[in-house]
Amino acid sequence: MRAGAGADADVIVVGAGPGGAATAHYLAQTGLEVLVLEKGTFPRDKVCGDGLTPRAVAELIRMGVPTPESDGWIRNWGLRTYGGGHRIEIPWPELAEMPSYGLARSRMNLDETLARHAAASGATVMEGVAVTGPVRHERSGRIQGVTARQVDAGGRKSGEELTFRAPLVVDAGGVSARLATSMGIEKNMNRPMGVAVRTYFRSPRHDDPMMESHLELWDGKPGESNLMPGYGWVFALGDGTVNVGLGSLSATARPTKLDYKGLFATWMRNAPAEWELTPENHVGELRSAALPMAFNRKPHYTQGLLLVGDSGGMVSPFNGEGIAYAMQSGRIAADVISQALARPAHYQQEKALRTYPRILAHELGGYYTLGRAFAHLIERPEIMRLCVKHGLPRRTLMRFVMKLLSDGFDRRDGDWMDRLITALTRMAPAS
Ligand SMILES: Cc1cc2nc3c(=O)[nH]c(=O)nc-3n(C[C@H](O)[C@H](O)[C@H](O)COP(=O)(O)OP(=O)(O)OC[C@H]3O[C@@H](n4cnc5c(N)ncnc54)[C@H](O)[C@@H]3O)c2cc1C
Repeated sequence: MRAGAGADADVIVVGAGPGGAATAHYLAQTGLEVLVLEKGTFPRDKVCGDGLTPRAVAELIRMGVPTPESDGWIRNWGLRTYGGGHRIEIPWPELAEMPSYGLARSRMNLDETLARHAAASGATVMEGVAVTGPVRHERSGRIQGVTARQVDAGGRKSGEELTFRAPLVVDAGGVSARLATSMGIEKNMNRPMGVAVRTYFRSPRHDDPMMESHLELWDGKPGESNLMPGYGWVFALGDGTVNVGLGSLSATARPTKLDYKGLFATWMRNAPAEWELTPENHVGELRSAALPMAFNRKPHYTQGLLLVGDSGGMVSPFNGEGIAYAMQSGRIAADVISQALARPAHYQQEKALRTYPRILAHELGGYYTLGRAFAHLIERPEIMRLCVKHGLPRRTLMRFVMKLLSDGFDRRDGDWMDRLITALTRMAPAS
C-alpha cells in the first residue's frame, strides 16, 4: 500500500526494541509502508537479563528469525532454582504451543538482529532519531504523526525539529512511554512494578545449559547469615560471559528505597563460587531499570495511537519477562492495523482498531490479574520464605509453579496442569 497524500508512511513505529521490530516486521509483510524511528544506533545496549523463555523463542520462530547454534544462539533446557536450602532443576515443559528450550542473547545483539530483520521485511528503520512529541489534529486531538530530532554520537539531540506524518502511530518506546504520556495516557500507580540491576562477568560456565535463579540472597554464608530483599539470576550467554542480576517486585509503583547496587555488591561477595563472579572477571557496567507490569498503562489504543510492549506495561509480574510480550503485542497490533487500513471508511477502521485492547485483555488480562495477586502475596517476606522452604522440594508442585511463572502452558489441548492454569486465567477478571 502507498501512504496517503501528505503522509510519510502508513504507520510510524516509535522504538526498535523487540516490540517495535516485531510490529514493523509484521506490518511490512502485509505490504504497508512502515517507518520505524529509533533514537539509538545499533548495536545499542538495553538493560535486561537477556533471557528468552520458550514463549519468547516461539515468537522468534514465528517472525522467521534464524537462531542457529553455530551463530552462538545457545539453547537452555530448563531452570535451576536455589532457595530454602534446596536446589532443584526443572526442564522446560513439552508443549504444543512452544518449543521446550529457551535462549539467552545479549540485547546488544538480539535487538540489532530483530531491527535488521524488520528492515529486510520492508520496513524503513531510521536510527539516531528521537521522537519528541505527537503531532495532533487541532480539533479532534487525534495523533497524525510525530515530531523528532536527530541524535548525535554523544546521545544529544541536535539539528532542527523534524516532522513525520502517518494516520497511525505505535508507541514501542519502552518503559518511559513518552509519546503515550504526552497523549495523556498515564501509568497506573496501583499496578506491580519491578526494579532490577544487571551486569556481565566472564565465566567458565558461560555455556551452562540451564537458566539459574536464586530465590534467596544472603549477605554472608547461605543459611548462616541474613537474608536480603530481592531475587537473583545468572543466565549463560555462550559467548564467554554470563548475565548476572537481581531485582525486586512490588505490588505498586511506589519507590522501594532499596540500594540495589549495594545489594548486588554484597550478593556477589557471597555468590556461588563455581561461576567465578569475581572482580577480575567483571566486564561492563552495573545498570538498573524499571519493569512496568500487568498492563500498568492503558488504554492500549486511543486516538490513532497503539501501545506495544513496555510502553503498555506488558512485563509479566510472575517472572519479569517482557521480550515475549513485546513481540506478541507487536504481532497483534500489526494484525489489527492491517485489518483497519484495508477498510475505506474511518468508522470501520476505528471498529477494527478498538479490538486491539480487547484481544490483549483476552490473551493476557486474566494471567496478569493472577500475577497481581502473586505480587501482593510474595511482597510479604514471611510468605515467600514459607513457599520457598516447603514448595521447592516438591517436584510436581514445582513443575506446576514453573509452568505458571514462565507462562509455559498450553491454552488448548494441554495436560491437567495446563488446563488448571488456563481455567484460573479465565476465571480471573481481565482488567
Ligand atoms: C534489569 C532487567 C532485566 C530484565 N530481564 C529480562 C529477561 O531476562 N527476559 C525478558 O524477557 N525480559 C526482561 N526484562 C524486560 C525487558 O527488557 C523488556 O520488557 C523489553 O525490552 C520490552 O521491549 P520493548 O520493545 O517494549 O521496549 P525496549 O526494549 O525498551 O525498546 C524500546 C526502544 O525504543 C527506543 N526509544 C525510546 N524512546 C524513544 C524515542 N523518544 N524516540 C525513538 N526511540 C525511542 C529505545 O531506544 C529502545 O530501542 C528485563 C528488564 C530489566 C530492566
